Amino acid sequence: MSEGDRLTELAKRRGFFLQSSGSYGGVAGFYTYGPQGATLKENIESAWRDRFVTREGHMEIDGPTVMPEAVFEASGHLDGFDDMIIECPDCGESHRADHLVEDEPGSEVEDAEALPIAEVEDLFAEYEIDCPTCGAALAGEPIDDFNLMFGTNIGPGSSSPGYLRPETAQGIFVEFPQLAEYARNQLPFGVTQIGRAYRNEISPRNALVRVREFTQAELEHFIDPEEDEPPIERVEDVLLPLYSVEQQQAEDGQVQELTVREAVDEGVVADPWIAYYLGISKGWYERIGVDMDRFRYRQHLPGELAHYASDCWDAETEIDGDWIEVTGFAYRGDYDLAKHEKHSGEEYSVFKQYDEPVTVEKPTVDPDMSYLGPEFGGAAGAISEELQALAERDPDAFDGDTVEVTVDGERYEIPVERTGFAVEEVTESGEHVTPHTVEPSFGVDRLIYTVLAHAYEDDEVDGEQRTYLSLPPETAPTTVGVFPLMDKDGLAERAQEVARDLRAAGLEVTYDDSGAIGRRYRRQDEVGTPFCVTVDYDTLEEGTVTVRERDSTDQKRVAIEELEETLLALRDG
Ligand code: ATP
Repeated sequence: MSEGDRLTELAKRRGFFLQSSGSYGGVAGFYTYGPQGATLKENIESAWRDRFVTREGHMEIDGPTVMPEAVFEASGHLDGFDDMIIECPDCGESHRADHLVEDEPGSEVEDAEALPIAEVEDLFAEYEIDCPTCGAALAGEPIDDFNLMFGTNIGPGSSSPGYLRPETAQGIFVEFPQLAEYARNQLPFGVTQIGRAYRNEISPRNALVRVREFTQAELEHFIDPEEDEPPIERVEDVLLPLYSVEQQQAEDGQVQELTVREAVDEGVVADPWIAYYLGISKGWYERIGVDMDRFRYRQHLPGELAHYASDCWDAETEIDGDWIEVTGFAYRGDYDLAKHEKHSGEEYSVFKQYDEPVTVEKPTVDPDMSYLGPEFGGAAGAISEELQALAERDPDAFDGDTVEVTVDGERYEIPVERTGFAVEEVTESGEHVTPHTVEPSFGVDRLIYTVLAHAYEDDEVDGEQRTYLSLPPETAPTTVGVFPLMDKDGLAERAQEVARDLRAAGLEVTYDDSGAIGRRYRRQDEVGTPFCVTVDYDTLEEGTVTVRERDSTDQKRVAIEELEETLLALRDG
């Protein structure tokens, strides 16, 4: 059985996750977290909050999942958030064309998404790719772009279209003008959001890995690209497993281990902010239970880079021999804020005050457009704007007798004399800066899947096979299982008291008195409970209990008065 299959089986049986609406046949790409999974998710999210919000001093917001169309027009999602779709002429099933090309045995294409559609169509013919559902030939079928956003109407009627957000990030970007106020217009500052995102994936697969509704934990760090530098010294010795473009292209290319400092100095990770986040994130993945022998940071290949990103690295984890992207670290430049500024007409910048006012030369043209004369008609406004922009960009263009501008593809030659071009001296106290954004974007569901897959262990205890999840105590849904040896002679009442006291001390506790004690241990092993406490006859006589550790199954006796302290120390390592 594959790692994924055995995990999905255990997940359903023990309450981690299951396909939603199963009674109605289920819908691909939607999962419900059961009682164990919901707590595990909450634990991972709170570990994320602790590391990326509290300890970094960032802000957190919580915005709506439905946003108006204008937001996604500005962000580029409406036009460009597409995957390649191919429909089988026989069974009618749709598939992601780029994935079929990559998955075809013998295919050497690693990133078909970056290729033009016509080339992917040719590859279908070259590899003679068949429909994975019914086996019909797909060569010759058209491939189309398919937009992944779920659309809806806001309010009655269809005049106000909206979309379920395909990433939480846009909810941060659109609020930038107000968020900058909260940060008192001081760069750098970071804003985070943990929440649901929706993508109408063509082919959901691998349980939680590719779903249609998922949770992202995103951080947008707004920086002044001219001035702000990350505190690299805090993470400079952290070793990064880097799979750079160069290594990917080298024959037998391997992951390269470099410290954060080396990665920056040698230019392997070009942007120090990205290097900083790779550094702090590595320790965090380890903390929540990712197996670091099955983990790497992979740099995006040039054709793979998102249109807005100048450098991007993915954190990837290995499951069943495949590498899965769990986090994208992208340098988004000023792309998003500049777009929202342009589309909304609001200011998406901060005002940077100079230490001292400075006098600068400011080239201007006459703001009164009447100088253009009636012959320019309706184009006068646009010509005037273009002239002003040109004056600022390239004042030398006004050196001759005429100056040339192009508006809507039409060239205009205008006598410089008439433009009122002048260079004025003005005193400025500061300038508007559009911040650049550094974005670590974590997929919570893929992390949950990884942590569970990497924690899954089989061994033999007292001649019996057992399965256990070696989850770190901080991540495990339950920290302590409390059992009475038997449900008689007051043992159950005493055990319930112990459970209550431990809960009052802030531990996550499960009480269980059903079935043989060995079976109760196995149940807790399978949900990854790191410690079990058993109340027996010695408890009533001597005031001690046994504490059993999950992975080693070692047991020791602990006095009840010391139990809380012992367990808290074990939990916090
Ligand atoms: P992929 O290439 O796998 O579709 P992506 O590059 O489109 O992912 P991003 O847009 O960078 O993903 O989103 C950030 C994170 O959100 C990803 O690293 C991933 O963990 C998570 N994510 C994206 N799409 C899905 C999905 N369909 N199901 C579960 N998690 C997802």
